Amino acid sequence: MNAKEDIKSLSREELVSRFAALGQPAYRADQVLQWIYEKQADSFDQMSNLSAALRGKLTASFDLNAVHALKTRNATDTTEKFLFQLRDHSLIETVLIPATPGLTSSSDRHTVCVSTQVGCAFACKFCASGLEGVKRNLTAAEIVDQVLQIQKLSGEKVSNIVVMGMGEPLANYNNLLRALKIINAPWGVGIGARKITVSTVGLVPRIKQLADEPMQIRLAVSLHGATDEVREKIMPVNRKFPLKELLAACDYYANTRKRMMTFEYILIDGVNDSLEQAHKLGAIAKRLHAKVNLIPYNPVEGLPWKRPDRDRCKMFQHTLQSHDVTSTLRMEKGTDINAACGQLRLQTERS
Ligand code: SAH
Repeated sequence: MNAKEDIKSLSREELVSRFAALGQPAYRADQVLQWIYEKQADSFDQMSNLSAALRGKLTASFDLNAVHALKTRNATDTTEKFLFQLRDHSLIETVLIPATPGLTSSSDRHTVCVSTQVGCAFACKFCASGLEGVKRNLTAAEIVDQVLQIQKLSGEKVSNIVVMGMGEPLANYNNLLRALKIINAPWGVGIGARKITVSTVGLVPRIKQLADEPMQIRLAVSLHGATDEVREKIMPVNRKFPLKELLAACDYYANTRKRMMTFEYILIDGVNDSLEQAHKLGAIAKRLHAKVNLIPYNPVEGLPWKRPDRDRCKMFQHTLQSHDVTSTLRMEKGTDINAACGQLRLQTERS
């Protein structure tokens, strides 16, 4: 029988009630939280202010680590990529990015890009994560532990979270929210809600639901096309949630939150990089007071897509500027370590 619970999936309240059931006072639960989130303990046996009997009980009742680092790879620009194995041997990727122009401004920032699913069901034509479908949702503990393990392995305090790794975060809504509350909590990882950005392929009902959450996290929407015709070609999800509905949901989010949202727009040569698309994107972003992150496409082995040349990317950006829209042309980091989206995992699984 294996009825162990993942301790990193639990809120403080839940842990306190588990401790009450074990006949333990609340302050013991707080001591354990401190060991986990501040002192980076990786076994209950290290928790030296608890009795041996309690440590034994905790070891029997809870799993402490949910992800295990298999590989790390350093890019020349200091982006660091981690391949984690889960207890069922599934593989996921997480990236540590020292500064993310366009996402955060200052270079003392350390941003972690977390995964939320093993694989992805949405099958965007250009993306490596969706090539083999979705295997399962990550648990809250598996999401939280990516951040904790990276803090431990790198020795850096993580300041920002972008949920832009493998998977569609809003398709794993409940575990995502549970994890983000733990990441945000003062007793947990302690990262401010405004330093957390969730990126979605565009799940309309979930965007509205997120807008109504009390936690003020930031939203990024993967647009990648400014008309249904272009977006549909590369993102099958557009058939279910066409642009009109998606933009209405974005409007709702922006109005509920009174915060600027972001559109991500990857630039793929000859597919979505025309100046006509740029003008349409400019009009959309202007109307929604949204910022645009332009990302020159990262080629994926086996896929036919290419990035446009630098001048074309610049022209696209200039066109957005002519609509008075703020954009960043993200010279993406970590291309040399396959930091883009599911590529390290894909290569490891195939070899
Ligand atoms: N499912 C979510 C989050 C994961 S992908 C979403 O779709 O937003 C994070 C971002 O990387 C998305 O904008 C995605 O479209 C983009 N992306 C995927 N593959 C890429 C590639 N090869 N090059 C550049 N960006 C890519």
